[in-house]
Amino acid sequence: MNDITAAIAGLKELDETVTRLGHVAALLEWDQETYLPEKAIEERSNQVAMIMGLHHEKVVDPSWESLFVELGYDGGGGPDGVDEIDNAFLRESYKRWKKKAKVPKRLVEEMARVTSISQAAWASARKADDFTAFAPHLRKVLDLEKEYALIVNPDADPYDTLLDEYEPGAKGDEIADLFDGLAAGLDDLLRKIQSGNRPPSSFLEKPYSVAKQNEFGKIVQQYMGYDTHRGRLDLSTHPFTTTLGPDDVRVTTRYDENLVLSGLFSNIHEAGHGLYEQGVGRSLRGTILADGTSLGIHESQSRFWENVVGRSRPFWNKWYPEFSRLFAENLETVDVGTFYRAVNQVRPSLIRVEADEVTYSFHIIIRFRLERALLAGDLTVEDLPEAWRESYRDLLGITPSNDADGCLQDVHWSVGLIGYFPTYALGNLYAAQFTRAMENELGPLGDLVADDRIGKVLGWLRKNIHSHGRVYLPGELCRRVTGAELDPGYFLDYLNAKYSEVYQPS
Ligand code: ZN
Repeated sequence: MNDITAAIAGLKELDETVTRLGHVAALLEWDQETYLPEKAIEERSNQVAMIMGLHHEKVVDPSWESLFVELGYDGGGGPDGVDEIDNAFLRESYKRWKKKAKVPKRLVEEMARVTSISQAAWASARKADDFTAFAPHLRKVLDLEKEYALIVNPDADPYDTLLDEYEPGAKGDEIADLFDGLAAGLDDLLRKIQSGNRPPSSFLEKPYSVAKQNEFGKIVQQYMGYDTHRGRLDLSTHPFTTTLGPDDVRVTTRYDENLVLSGLFSNIHEAGHGLYEQGVGRSLRGTILADGTSLGIHESQSRFWENVVGRSRPFWNKWYPEFSRLFAENLETVDVGTFYRAVNQVRPSLIRVEADEVTYSFHIIIRFRLERALLAGDLTVEDLPEAWRESYRDLLGITPSNDADGCLQDVHWSVGLIGYFPTYALGNLYAAQFTRAMENELGPLGDLVADDRIGKVLGWLRKNIHSHGRVYLPGELCRRVTGAELDPGYFLDYLNAKYSEVYQPS
Protein backbone atom coordinates (compact mmCIF):
# COMPACT_ATOMS: atom_id res chain seq x y z
CA MET A 1 0.00 0.00 0.00
CA ASN A 2 1.56 3.35 -0.97
CA ASP A 3 1.15 6.55 1.07
CA ILE A 4 -1.78 7.82 -0.96
CA THR A 5 -3.72 4.57 -0.73
CA ALA A 6 -2.98 4.33 2.99
CA ALA A 7 -4.16 7.90 3.65
CA ILE A 8 -7.39 7.37 1.68
CA ALA A 9 -7.97 4.10 3.55
CA GLY A 10 -7.55 6.01 6.83
CA LEU A 11 -10.12 8.59 5.73
CA LYS A 12 -12.53 5.85 4.71
CA GLU A 13 -12.23 4.22 8.10
CA LEU A 14 -13.16 7.50 9.79
CA ASP A 15 -16.04 7.97 7.37
CA GLU A 16 -17.36 4.48 8.08
CA THR A 17 -17.78 5.34 11.76
CA VAL A 18 -19.44 8.67 10.90
CA THR A 19 -21.86 6.94 8.52
CA ARG A 20 -22.70 4.20 11.04
CA LEU A 21 -23.35 6.69 13.84
CA GLY A 22 -25.59 8.60 11.44
CA HIS A 23 -27.57 5.42 10.78
CA VAL A 24 -27.94 4.73 14.50
CA ALA A 25 -29.27 8.26 15.08
CA ALA A 26 -31.64 7.79 12.13
CA LEU A 27 -32.98 4.58 13.67
CA LEU A 28 -33.71 6.35 16.96
CA GLU A 29 -35.42 9.17 15.06
CA TRP A 30 -37.41 6.78 12.87
CA ASP A 31 -38.66 5.02 15.98
CA GLN A 32 -39.54 8.37 17.53
CA GLU A 33 -41.72 9.25 14.54
CA THR A 34 -43.45 5.87 14.34
CA TYR A 35 -43.69 3.76 17.51
CA LEU A 36 -42.16 5.57 20.50
CA PRO A 37 -44.50 5.72 23.52
CA GLU A 38 -45.25 9.38 24.19
CA LYS A 39 -43.72 9.43 27.65
CA ALA A 40 -40.38 8.18 26.33
CA ILE A 41 -39.69 11.35 24.36
CA GLU A 42 -37.38 13.02 26.87
CA GLU A 43 -35.06 10.04 27.23
CA ARG A 44 -35.11 9.59 23.46
CA SER A 45 -34.04 13.23 22.89
CA ASN A 46 -31.08 12.59 25.22
CA GLN A 47 -30.17 9.43 23.34
CA VAL A 48 -30.29 11.19 19.98
CA ALA A 49 -28.29 14.15 21.34
CA MET A 50 -25.63 11.78 22.68
CA ILE A 51 -25.25 9.90 19.39
CA MET A 52 -25.21 13.14 17.40
CA GLY A 53 -22.53 14.47 19.76
CA LEU A 54 -20.37 11.40 19.04
CA HIS A 55 -21.14 11.83 15.34
CA HIS A 56 -19.96 15.45 15.43
CA GLU A 57 -16.78 14.48 17.32
CA LYS A 58 -15.94 11.96 14.62
CA VAL A 59 -16.69 14.46 11.83
CA VAL A 60 -14.19 16.98 13.26
CA ASP A 61 -11.67 14.37 14.49
CA PRO A 62 -8.13 15.83 14.09
CA SER A 63 -7.13 12.77 12.02
CA TRP A 64 -9.14 14.12 9.09
CA GLU A 65 -6.91 17.18 8.88
CA SER A 66 -3.63 15.28 9.18
CA LEU A 67 -4.70 12.80 6.50
CA PHE A 68 -5.82 15.57 4.13
CA VAL A 69 -2.47 17.32 4.73
CA GLU A 70 -0.64 14.07 4.04
CA LEU A 71 -2.45 13.84 0.71
CA GLY A 72 -1.87 17.51 -0.04
CA TYR A 73 -5.63 17.72 -0.59
CA ASP A 74 -7.38 21.09 -0.27
CA GLY A 75 -10.74 20.48 -1.93
CA GLY A 76 -9.50 20.83 -5.53
CA GLY A 77 -8.45 17.90 -7.73
CA GLY A 78 -7.34 14.69 -6.02
CA PRO A 79 -3.82 13.22 -6.18
CA ASP A 80 -2.69 11.60 -9.46
CA GLY A 81 -3.94 8.11 -10.11
CA VAL A 82 -7.00 8.38 -7.84
CA ASP A 83 -10.16 7.10 -9.53
CA GLU A 84 -13.46 8.93 -10.00
CA ILE A 85 -15.12 7.45 -6.91
CA ASP A 86 -12.22 8.15 -4.57
CA ASN A 87 -12.00 11.67 -5.97
CA ALA A 88 -15.68 12.19 -5.16
CA PHE A 89 -15.09 10.68 -1.73
CA LEU A 90 -12.29 13.18 -1.05
CA ARG A 91 -14.39 16.09 -2.35
CA GLU A 92 -17.40 15.27 -0.18
CA SER A 93 -15.58 14.26 2.99
CA TYR A 94 -13.29 17.30 2.80
CA LYS A 95 -16.27 19.60 2.34
CA ARG A 96 -18.06 18.11 5.35
CA TRP A 97 -14.98 18.18 7.58
CA LYS A 98 -14.06 21.74 6.62
CA LYS A 99 -17.55 23.07 7.22
CA LYS A 100 -18.02 21.35 10.56
CA ALA A 101 -14.52 22.16 11.78
CA LYS A 102 -14.88 25.83 10.86
CA VAL A 103 -18.17 26.59 12.58
CA PRO A 104 -17.62 27.31 16.29
CA LYS A 105 -19.38 25.09 18.80
CA ARG A 106 -20.97 28.22 20.31
CA LEU A 107 -22.80 28.92 17.04
CA VAL A 108 -23.89 25.29 16.54
CA GLU A 109 -25.39 25.22 20.03
CA GLU A 110 -26.97 28.64 19.62
CA MET A 111 -28.59 27.57 16.34
CA ALA A 112 -29.95 24.40 17.94
CA ARG A 113 -31.32 26.35 20.89
CA VAL A 114 -32.84 29.19 18.88
CA THR A 115 -34.45 26.96 16.25
CA SER A 116 -36.02 24.67 18.82
CA ILE A 117 -37.60 27.66 20.59
CA SER A 118 -38.51 29.22 17.26
CA GLN A 119 -40.23 26.05 16.02
CA ALA A 120 -42.41 25.94 19.12
CA ALA A 121 -43.16 29.68 18.73
CA TRP A 122 -44.07 29.09 15.09
CA ALA A 123 -46.46 26.26 15.98
CA SER A 124 -48.38 28.34 18.49
CA ALA A 125 -48.27 31.49 16.30
CA ARG A 126 -49.73 29.49 13.45
CA LYS A 127 -52.46 28.12 15.66
CA ALA A 128 -53.32 31.58 16.96
CA ASP A 129 -52.79 33.22 13.55
CA ASP A 130 -50.43 35.68 15.21
CA PHE A 131 -47.47 36.58 13.02
CA THR A 132 -46.16 39.29 15.37
CA ALA A 133 -45.58 36.60 18.02
CA PHE A 134 -43.36 34.69 15.61
CA ALA A 135 -41.56 37.66 14.02
CA PRO A 136 -38.77 38.16 16.63
CA HIS A 137 -37.91 34.44 16.41
CA LEU A 138 -37.70 34.54 12.64
CA ARG A 139 -35.39 37.58 12.88
CA LYS A 140 -33.06 35.64 15.18
CA VAL A 141 -33.05 32.60 12.90
CA LEU A 142 -32.23 34.74 9.86
CA ASP A 143 -29.38 36.48 11.72
CA LEU A 144 -27.88 33.16 12.80
CA GLU A 145 -28.22 31.61 9.36
CA LYS A 146 -26.45 34.60 7.86
CA GLU A 147 -23.70 34.45 10.49
CA TYR A 148 -23.26 30.74 9.78
CA ALA A 149 -23.09 31.29 6.01
CA LEU A 150 -20.45 34.01 6.36
CA ILE A 151 -18.29 31.77 8.56
CA VAL A 152 -18.53 28.86 6.11
CA ASN A 153 -17.69 31.09 3.15
CA PRO A 154 -16.93 34.78 3.84
CA ASP A 155 -16.56 35.54 0.12
CA ALA A 156 -19.86 34.13 -1.14
CA ASP A 157 -23.40 35.46 -1.13
CA PRO A 158 -24.83 33.99 2.12
CA TYR A 159 -27.90 32.73 0.28
CA ASP A 160 -25.72 30.71 -2.11
CA THR A 161 -23.87 29.17 0.83
CA LEU A 162 -27.13 28.07 2.45
CA LEU A 163 -28.49 26.81 -0.86
CA ASP A 164 -25.32 24.75 -1.29
CA GLU A 165 -26.24 22.68 1.78
CA TYR A 166 -29.24 21.27 -0.09
CA GLU A 167 -28.36 21.72 -3.76
CA PRO A 168 -24.58 21.65 -4.06
CA GLY A 169 -23.23 24.04 -6.65
CA ALA A 170 -26.52 25.87 -7.25
CA LYS A 171 -26.54 29.68 -7.28
CA GLY A 172 -29.39 31.99 -6.31
CA ASP A 173 -29.02 34.09 -9.49
CA GLU A 174 -29.26 31.02 -11.73
CA ILE A 175 -32.30 29.72 -9.92
CA ALA A 176 -33.91 33.16 -10.15
CA ASP A 177 -33.49 33.04 -13.95
CA LEU A 178 -34.80 29.47 -14.18
CA PHE A 179 -37.81 30.39 -12.04
CA ASP A 180 -38.58 33.52 -14.08
CA GLY A 181 -38.85 31.35 -17.20
CA LEU A 182 -40.85 28.75 -15.34
CA ALA A 183 -43.29 31.30 -13.90
CA ALA A 184 -43.96 32.83 -17.32
CA GLY A 185 -44.62 29.43 -18.89
CA LEU A 186 -46.84 28.28 -16.04
CA ASP A 187 -48.81 31.49 -16.16
CA ASP A 188 -49.70 30.89 -19.82
CA LEU A 189 -50.69 27.31 -19.10
CA LEU A 190 -52.79 28.20 -16.07
CA ARG A 191 -54.76 30.74 -18.11
CA LYS A 192 -55.53 28.09 -20.73
CA ILE A 193 -56.57 25.61 -18.05
CA GLN A 194 -58.83 28.10 -16.33
CA SER A 195 -60.72 28.68 -19.56
CA GLY A 196 -61.24 24.90 -20.04
CA ASN A 197 -63.79 22.49 -18.61
CA ARG A 198 -63.34 21.58 -14.95
CA PRO A 199 -63.41 17.79 -14.50
CA PRO A 200 -65.99 16.34 -12.07
CA SER A 201 -64.42 15.04 -8.84
CA SER A 202 -67.10 14.79 -6.13
CA PHE A 203 -66.46 11.01 -5.87
CA LEU A 204 -63.03 11.80 -4.40
CA GLU A 205 -64.62 13.54 -1.45
CA LYS A 206 -66.27 10.36 -0.17
CA PRO A 207 -64.73 8.22 2.61
CA TYR A 208 -62.25 5.54 1.47
CA SER A 209 -61.36 2.70 3.83
CA VAL A 210 -57.90 3.23 5.31
CA ALA A 211 -57.18 -0.52 5.41
CA LYS A 212 -57.85 -0.77 1.68
CA GLN A 213 -55.79 2.35 0.99
CA ASN A 214 -52.90 0.62 2.75
CA GLU A 215 -53.45 -2.57 0.78
CA PHE A 216 -53.42 -0.72 -2.54
CA GLY A 217 -50.44 1.45 -1.53
CA LYS A 218 -48.36 -1.64 -0.80
CA ILE A 219 -49.27 -3.21 -4.13
CA VAL A 220 -48.17 -0.09 -5.98
CA GLN A 221 -44.89 0.19 -4.04
CA GLN A 222 -44.14 -3.41 -4.97
CA TYR A 223 -44.99 -2.71 -8.61
CA MET A 224 -42.51 0.20 -8.58
CA GLY A 225 -39.78 -2.16 -7.38
CA TYR A 226 -39.44 -0.93 -3.78
CA ASP A 227 -37.74 -3.84 -1.96
CA THR A 228 -39.52 -4.69 1.29
CA HIS A 229 -36.72 -7.11 2.22
CA ARG A 230 -34.47 -4.06 2.44
CA GLY A 231 -37.03 -1.64 3.86
CA ARG A 232 -40.54 -1.33 5.27
CA LEU A 233 -43.61 0.86 5.31
CA ASP A 234 -45.01 2.40 8.51
CA LEU A 235 -47.27 5.26 9.53
CA SER A 236 -46.16 8.69 10.78
CA THR A 237 -47.67 12.16 11.07
CA HIS A 238 -45.44 13.50 8.29
CA PRO A 239 -44.40 10.99 5.62
CA PHE A 240 -40.65 10.56 5.17
CA THR A 241 -37.93 8.22 3.89
CA THR A 242 -34.91 7.34 5.98
CA THR A 243 -31.81 5.22 5.47
CA LEU A 244 -30.68 3.14 8.45
CA GLY A 245 -28.07 1.17 6.51
CA PRO A 246 -27.30 0.00 2.97
CA ASP A 247 -30.00 -2.70 3.24
CA ASP A 248 -32.47 -0.79 5.35
CA VAL A 249 -34.29 2.07 3.60
CA ARG A 250 -37.64 2.74 5.26
CA VAL A 251 -40.59 4.81 4.15
CA THR A 252 -43.60 6.11 6.03
CA THR A 253 -46.96 7.41 4.96
CA ARG A 254 -50.25 8.60 6.44
CA TYR A 255 -53.83 7.87 5.51
CA ASP A 256 -56.96 9.91 5.87
CA GLU A 257 -60.30 8.33 5.12
CA ASN A 258 -61.43 11.55 3.46
CA LEU A 259 -58.29 12.22 1.40
CA VAL A 260 -57.70 9.08 -0.61
CA LEU A 261 -55.33 10.66 -3.12
CA SER A 262 -53.14 12.21 -0.45
CA GLY A 263 -52.34 8.81 1.10
CA LEU A 264 -51.84 7.08 -2.22
CA PHE A 265 -49.54 9.70 -3.69
CA SER A 266 -47.52 9.99 -0.50
CA ASN A 267 -46.99 6.19 -0.71
CA ILE A 268 -45.72 6.53 -4.26
CA HIS A 269 -43.69 9.67 -3.48
CA GLU A 270 -41.81 8.16 -0.55
CA ALA A 271 -41.22 4.87 -2.38
CA GLY A 272 -39.65 6.99 -5.15
CA HIS A 273 -37.22 8.41 -2.59
CA GLY A 274 -36.69 4.91 -1.22
CA LEU A 275 -35.83 3.48 -4.65
CA TYR A 276 -33.10 6.11 -5.05
CA GLU A 277 -31.48 5.12 -1.74
CA GLN A 278 -31.94 1.38 -2.35
CA GLY A 279 -30.34 1.76 -5.78
CA VAL A 280 -27.03 3.29 -4.67
CA GLY A 281 -24.13 1.29 -6.18
CA ARG A 282 -22.50 -1.49 -4.17
CA SER A 283 -19.06 0.11 -4.22
CA LEU A 284 -20.47 3.15 -2.40
CA ARG A 285 -22.18 1.24 0.42
CA GLY A 286 -21.66 2.59 3.91
CA THR A 287 -19.80 5.71 2.72
CA ILE A 288 -20.56 9.41 2.51
CA LEU A 289 -21.30 8.83 -1.20
CA ALA A 290 -24.18 6.44 -0.48
CA ASP A 291 -26.85 9.12 -0.56
CA GLY A 292 -28.77 11.29 -3.02
CA THR A 293 -26.54 13.88 -4.63
CA SER A 294 -28.89 16.74 -3.76
CA LEU A 295 -32.39 17.32 -2.46
CA GLY A 296 -33.44 18.48 -5.93
CA ILE A 297 -32.29 15.22 -7.53
CA HIS A 298 -33.87 13.26 -4.68
CA GLU A 299 -37.13 15.08 -5.24
CA SER A 300 -36.87 14.38 -8.98
CA GLN A 301 -37.08 10.67 -8.16
CA SER A 302 -40.08 10.95 -5.84
CA ARG A 303 -41.93 13.26 -8.18
CA PHE A 304 -41.15 11.22 -11.26
CA TRP A 305 -43.00 8.27 -9.72
CA GLU A 306 -45.70 10.34 -8.08
CA ASN A 307 -46.57 12.66 -10.96
CA VAL A 308 -45.03 11.55 -14.22
CA VAL A 309 -45.93 7.88 -13.67
CA GLY A 310 -48.57 7.88 -10.90
CA ARG A 311 -50.76 10.65 -12.32
CA SER A 312 -50.52 9.42 -15.91
CA ARG A 313 -53.27 7.92 -18.04
CA PRO A 314 -51.40 4.66 -18.79
CA PHE A 315 -50.82 4.11 -15.03
CA TRP A 316 -54.53 4.43 -14.32
CA ASN A 317 -55.49 2.35 -17.35
CA LYS A 318 -53.46 -0.39 -15.69
CA TRP A 319 -54.48 0.10 -12.07
CA TYR A 320 -57.98 1.53 -12.16
CA PRO A 321 -59.74 -1.86 -12.53
CA GLU A 322 -58.18 -3.01 -9.24
CA PHE A 323 -58.58 0.36 -7.52
CA SER A 324 -62.24 0.76 -8.51
CA ARG A 325 -62.95 -2.82 -7.43
CA LEU A 326 -61.48 -2.13 -3.97
CA PHE A 327 -63.57 1.03 -3.63
CA ALA A 328 -66.60 -0.07 -5.61
CA GLU A 329 -68.98 1.76 -3.25
CA ASN A 330 -67.53 5.11 -4.42
CA LEU A 331 -66.40 4.37 -7.95
CA GLU A 332 -68.92 1.98 -9.44
CA THR A 333 -70.23 4.56 -11.89
CA VAL A 334 -66.95 6.38 -12.52
CA ASP A 335 -64.97 5.40 -15.62
CA VAL A 336 -61.18 5.51 -15.84
CA GLY A 337 -61.12 8.66 -18.01
CA THR A 338 -63.22 10.58 -15.50
CA PHE A 339 -61.08 9.35 -12.63
CA TYR A 340 -57.85 10.27 -14.43
CA ARG A 341 -59.10 13.79 -15.07
CA ALA A 342 -60.16 14.17 -11.44
CA VAL A 343 -56.73 13.07 -10.24
CA ASN A 344 -55.24 15.85 -12.33
CA GLN A 345 -57.53 18.73 -11.53
CA VAL A 346 -55.81 22.10 -11.33
CA ARG A 347 -56.93 24.79 -8.95
CA PRO A 348 -54.91 27.72 -7.52
CA SER A 349 -54.91 27.29 -3.76
CA LEU A 350 -53.31 28.88 -0.72
CA ILE A 351 -51.62 25.82 0.78
CA ARG A 352 -48.42 24.50 -0.78
CA VAL A 353 -48.74 20.88 0.31
CA GLU A 354 -52.19 20.63 -1.25
CA ALA A 355 -51.19 22.16 -4.57
CA ASP A 356 -51.51 20.34 -7.91
CA GLU A 357 -48.71 19.68 -10.38
CA VAL A 358 -49.26 22.91 -12.34
CA THR A 359 -49.62 25.46 -9.55
CA TYR A 360 -47.15 23.84 -7.12
CA SER A 361 -44.10 25.63 -8.49
CA PHE A 362 -45.70 29.04 -7.89
CA HIS A 363 -45.71 28.32 -4.16
CA ILE A 364 -42.00 27.58 -4.35
CA ILE A 365 -41.11 30.56 -6.53
CA ILE A 366 -42.84 32.84 -4.03
CA ARG A 367 -40.95 31.36 -1.06
CA PHE A 368 -37.64 31.48 -2.92
CA ARG A 369 -38.02 35.15 -3.81
CA LEU A 370 -39.12 36.11 -0.31
CA GLU A 371 -36.47 34.17 1.62
CA ARG A 372 -33.75 35.58 -0.60
CA ALA A 373 -35.01 39.12 -0.02
CA LEU A 374 -35.26 38.48 3.74
CA LEU A 375 -31.71 37.17 3.98
CA ALA A 376 -30.32 40.01 1.87
CA GLY A 377 -32.15 42.54 4.04
CA ASP A 378 -34.22 43.78 1.08
CA LEU A 379 -37.38 42.72 2.89
CA THR A 380 -37.96 43.16 6.62
CA VAL A 381 -39.59 40.42 8.66
CA GLU A 382 -42.28 42.93 9.62
CA ASP A 383 -43.23 43.38 5.96
CA LEU A 384 -43.29 39.65 5.18
CA PRO A 385 -47.05 39.03 5.56
CA GLU A 386 -47.94 41.82 3.15
CA ALA A 387 -45.24 40.77 0.67
CA TRP A 388 -46.64 37.23 0.88
CA ARG A 389 -50.18 38.38 0.11
CA GLU A 390 -48.97 40.48 -2.81
CA SER A 391 -47.00 37.56 -4.26
CA TYR A 392 -50.00 35.23 -4.09
CA ARG A 393 -52.21 37.85 -5.68
CA ASP A 394 -49.69 38.35 -8.51
CA LEU A 395 -48.85 34.72 -9.28
CA LEU A 396 -51.93 32.73 -8.27
CA GLY A 397 -54.67 35.33 -8.28
CA ILE A 398 -55.76 34.54 -4.72
CA THR A 399 -54.93 36.09 -1.34
CA PRO A 400 -54.93 34.45 2.08
CA SER A 401 -57.30 36.09 4.54
CA ASN A 402 -54.97 35.22 7.44
CA ASP A 403 -51.27 34.51 8.05
CA ALA A 404 -51.90 30.94 9.23
CA ASP A 405 -52.83 30.14 5.62
CA GLY A 406 -50.17 32.60 4.44
CA CYS A 407 -46.58 33.03 5.57
CA LEU A 408 -47.06 30.89 8.70
CA GLN A 409 -48.07 27.70 6.89
CA ASP A 410 -44.66 25.99 6.57
CA VAL A 411 -42.31 24.90 9.35
CA HIS A 412 -39.12 25.37 7.28
CA TRP A 413 -38.05 28.93 8.12
CA SER A 414 -38.69 28.44 11.83
CA VAL A 415 -36.11 25.63 11.98
CA GLY A 416 -33.55 27.48 9.87
CA LEU A 417 -34.18 25.78 6.54
CA ILE A 418 -33.37 28.75 4.32
CA GLY A 419 -32.48 27.79 0.74
CA TYR A 420 -34.37 24.51 1.04
CA PHE A 421 -37.64 25.37 -0.75
CA PRO A 422 -36.18 25.73 -4.27
CA THR A 423 -35.19 22.05 -4.28
CA TYR A 424 -38.87 21.02 -4.41
CA ALA A 425 -39.39 22.85 -7.70
CA LEU A 426 -36.00 21.81 -9.07
CA GLY A 427 -37.16 18.22 -8.50
CA ASN A 428 -40.04 18.73 -10.95
CA LEU A 429 -37.70 20.23 -13.53
CA TYR A 430 -35.11 17.48 -13.22
CA ALA A 431 -37.82 14.81 -13.36
CA ALA A 432 -39.17 16.12 -16.67
CA GLN A 433 -35.70 16.46 -18.20
CA PHE A 434 -34.66 12.96 -17.09
CA THR A 435 -37.91 11.55 -18.47
CA ARG A 436 -37.11 12.99 -21.88
CA ALA A 437 -33.64 11.42 -21.82
CA MET A 438 -35.17 8.09 -20.77
CA GLU A 439 -37.73 8.24 -23.58
CA ASN A 440 -35.01 9.01 -26.13
CA GLU A 441 -33.45 5.71 -25.15
CA LEU A 442 -36.40 3.46 -24.27
CA GLY A 443 -39.33 4.95 -26.20
CA PRO A 444 -42.44 6.65 -24.76
CA LEU A 445 -42.88 6.18 -21.01
CA GLY A 446 -46.61 5.62 -21.54
CA ASP A 447 -45.84 2.56 -23.71
CA LEU A 448 -43.47 1.17 -21.07
CA VAL A 449 -46.21 1.46 -18.44
CA ALA A 450 -48.91 0.10 -20.75
CA ASP A 451 -46.76 -2.87 -21.83
CA ASP A 452 -45.83 -3.77 -18.24
CA ARG A 453 -42.20 -2.88 -18.78
CA ILE A 454 -41.93 -0.79 -15.61
CA GLY A 455 -38.82 -2.77 -14.65
CA LYS A 456 -37.08 -1.16 -17.62
CA VAL A 457 -37.92 2.26 -16.21
CA LEU A 458 -36.42 1.43 -12.83
CA GLY A 459 -33.42 -0.17 -14.56
CA TRP A 460 -32.78 3.06 -16.46
CA LEU A 461 -33.03 5.16 -13.29
CA ARG A 462 -30.73 2.74 -11.45
CA LYS A 463 -28.08 2.84 -14.16
CA ASN A 464 -28.18 6.56 -14.88
CA ILE A 465 -29.02 8.11 -11.50
CA HIS A 466 -29.39 5.88 -8.44
CA SER A 467 -26.20 3.84 -8.73
CA HIS A 468 -24.02 6.97 -8.76
CA GLY A 469 -25.08 8.20 -5.32
CA ARG A 470 -23.17 11.42 -4.69
CA VAL A 471 -20.31 10.72 -7.08
CA TYR A 472 -21.49 13.49 -9.43
CA LEU A 473 -22.72 16.91 -8.32
CA PRO A 474 -26.31 17.60 -9.46
CA GLY A 475 -25.31 19.89 -12.35
CA GLU A 476 -22.81 17.35 -13.64
CA LEU A 477 -25.27 14.47 -13.26
CA CYS A 478 -27.86 16.41 -15.25
CA ARG A 479 -25.36 17.04 -18.09
CA ARG A 480 -24.24 13.40 -18.10
CA VAL A 481 -27.76 12.01 -18.16
CA THR A 482 -29.45 14.51 -20.48
CA GLY A 483 -26.58 16.16 -22.35
CA ALA A 484 -27.82 19.60 -21.28
CA GLU A 485 -28.02 22.08 -18.42
CA LEU A 486 -31.21 22.11 -16.37
CA ASP A 487 -33.89 23.78 -18.49
CA PRO A 488 -37.52 24.45 -17.42
CA GLY A 489 -38.62 23.94 -21.04
CA TYR A 490 -38.87 20.16 -20.57
CA PHE A 491 -41.21 20.51 -17.60
CA LEU A 492 -43.35 23.09 -19.40
CA ASP A 493 -43.57 20.88 -22.52
CA TYR A 494 -44.59 17.93 -20.37
CA LEU A 495 -47.30 19.93 -18.57
CA ASN A 496 -48.60 21.54 -21.75
CA ALA A 497 -48.95 18.20 -23.50
CA LYS A 498 -50.63 16.55 -20.54
CA TYR A 499 -53.04 19.30 -19.54
CA SER A 500 -54.21 20.16 -23.03
CA GLU A 501 -55.73 16.68 -22.91
CA VAL A 502 -57.01 16.84 -19.31
CA TYR A 503 -58.61 20.26 -19.83
CA GLN A 504 -60.12 20.40 -23.28
CA PRO A 505 -61.16 23.97 -24.18
CA SER A 506 -64.80 24.72 -23.45
ZN1 ZN B 1 -40.01 14.35 -1.22
